[in-house]
Order: sequence, then C-alpha cells, then structure tokens
Amino acid sequence: MSRIYLSPPDVGTAEVEFVLEAFEANWVAPVGPHLNAFEQEFAGMVGAAHAVALSSGTAALHLALRLAGVGPGDEVLCSDLTFIASAAPITYLGARPVFIDAEEQSWNMDPAVACAVLEEKARAGRPPKALVLVHLYGQSADLAPIKACCDRHGVKLIEDAAEALGATYGELSPGSLGWAGIHSFNGNKIITTSGGGMLVTAEATVATEARFLATQARDAAPHYQHSTIGYNYRLSNICAGIGRGQLLRLATKVTRRRAHFRAYHQALGDLPGVVFQPEAPWGQSTRWLTCLTIDPARAGRTREDVRLALAAADIESRPLWKPLHLQPVFTAAEYHGTGVGERLFADGLCLPSGSGMTEEQRQRVITAFRSAFGA
Ligand SMILES: *Cc1c(COP(=O)(O)O)cnc(C)c1O
Repeated sequence: MSRIYLSPPDVGTAEVEFVLEAFEANWVAPVGPHLNAFEQEFAGMVGAAHAVALSSGTAALHLALRLAGVGPGDEVLCSDLTFIASAAPITYLGARPVFIDAEEQSWNMDPAVACAVLEEKARAGRPPKALVLVHLYGQSADLAPIKACCDRHGVKLIEDAAEALGATYGELSPGSLGWAGIHSFNGNKIITTSGGGMLVTAEATVATEARFLATQARDAAPHYQHSTIGYNYRLSNICAGIGRGQLLRLATKVTRRRAHFRAYHQALGDLPGVVFQPEAPWGQSTRWLTCLTIDPARAGRTREDVRLALAAADIESRPLWKPLHLQPVFTAAEYHGTGVGERLFADGLCLPSGSGMTEEQRQRVITAFRSAFGA
C-alpha cells in the first residue's frame, strides 16, 4: 500500500502535448505563445479583465502590494488564519501586517472586526494602505461588507485566492472582485504549473506595470536601461503550457475535491465532536482540502491522536494553518480578534483531498479515521 498525500499534483496528457509543442517550436525561453494564451484563457475563466502569469502566488502578491503603493512604515490588514505567504510580501516592502481574526461561518476574515479596525485607523488619520483577504481552503470570504469598507476609505482590496480557483461568490469568481487578486499554481493547489502564480486585475495599467516589474523593469530603450528596481518573476512558457493543460480540467478537479468532502462528511459526520468546515451561503467552496475540527471533550481524543493514527497508516494529514499572530516571526505584530482562529487551529485537521485520489484511497482514510475513534 502506498502513502496517501494531502494534495499531490494531478497531471494528464494534455499538459504533455502543450509542453511538447513548446519544445518543437523552440519556445523554451521564458516568454512565448503559451504564456499569452494561458493568461487569456485564465482571465476568461475567472472573469477578470487582465491576468499576468508569474513565477509564484507569493510573487503575484508582492507585485500587487507594491503596485498598491505599499511601502516602509505602512500598515496592511491581513487575514490571520492563513499560510505565511499571505503576509510575507507585506514585510518584503517594509510594511507591517495587522492580523484580523476569522469568523465561525466561513473561517475567513471577520468583516465586523476588519471594518472596525479600518474605521478606527482611518479616523486616526492613518488608514491602512491595503487589505489582503484570503479565501481559506477554497471557501470565499464574506466579500461584500469588506469591499464596502475598503471602498469607503480608499483602501486597496487584494484577494488571496490561492486556494479558491474554481470557487464561486454568488455568480462571480473570488479573486476577481477586489482591486487585484492572486492565484497559485504550486504543486499542491487546485491546478499546478509545477510552480507559478497569477495576478488578476480590472485595471489595464496595473497589468502593464506588473509585467514591467516582473521582467526586471526594463525601460523602452535598445540598451538595458532601468529607472526603478524590478524582479525576475515571470512564468516560463513551458510552465504556462502545463497550466493550459491543467485549466482544461479545472471543473473536473473541483468536482472531485468536492466529492471527497461529501464522502468524508457522510462517513465521518456521525463521530462525536467531529465538525466539518461549513460552506457559507454566499458561495461554493472548491474544498481544496477537506477540513474539520475534533472537540477533545466530546470526541475523547485529540486532533493529534487522530493525525498520528492516520500517519501510522501511511496517510498524510495536517493541522489547519497556524494563525499568523502566533508565529514566532510575528510576535510583535498587531492582532485583532477573539481567538476564533486559535480555537480552530487547536482542534483542526486537513484530510487528503487531491483530485487524483481514488475512491479506494479515500476509503482507506475513512477506515483509519474511524478506527482512531474505535468505530
Ligand atoms: C499557496 C498559497 C500562497 C502562495 O502561493 P505560492 O504559489 O506557493 O507562492 C499564498 N496564499 C495562500 C493562502 C496559499 O495557500
């Protein structure tokens, strides 16, 4: 029996065709036709006016924050219960993250807390420069109230949709509603390019500037001339070829992940103290990972007991993201909340959810999980 991973890459034959096409045309250089096609196809898929393909989701967020004008000494509001990459680029620019707690309904940024903090800082004459809103585990955040208070105070809303490609917010795609949005094509995400990311925006100038900064900020001149410092952040044409192949099966990949969630919910939902991540009424989740909490008082065992039992059966599972204000690197950072994220982290577990996972593998996870409960 082989090890079952949390979210391994799921690659098919279309990807190989696109990559071979790039080799045959000798488009192995960074820029090429797949890159433009991938951007256009992606923008169409998520309903964004512009998409810029980059080397990672982190790079996309770094560029978005820089183009939002974030600089040394600025503050940026940021979801607290998330991966480090949601906040790290804030610090690259010398700015300070201000962490906002999650709410119970979607496990995303609490709009009431976010808007209260934003209003207070605006009244004090120091509004934050931007707000980074994460759509956690593929469930869109409660966007409308957060967007409204950002708009009221001229704060740029940047959506971190790294886990939410293929999710919905009403009829729309999370990531495409803010001033800018970012996606990730890391190996463990909904689609992968083996590593990559996308910046989406409604503003043509933001897209143009992002492409400029992502390719070392070369001025228009026959020689190499630079008036500002840029980055080497562009996605390669080869990786874009993989992305085009992956995009063709996006809907299937989301359907598979959601089917895993339904099967887990059906098979484990009766166990005492086990509660699954809710799906909010405002949008359909990708269920990037099936997440649940285990209340030790009712379950008679802890999240760690279950995680270790799964590990003994060669099954990878993980605690939820550790709230960023608890990270050693952010002990001095400002945090607003009531510990919702802390409680989720204490009891939360993510189960194997890859779109390539078979029903047999899923059944192995279910059997091992139930036996950890003596059921
Ligand atoms: C994966 C992820 C990122 C970073 O994307 P990379 O492509 O790995 O740089 C950012 N935010 C969240 C919430 C993520 O899950």
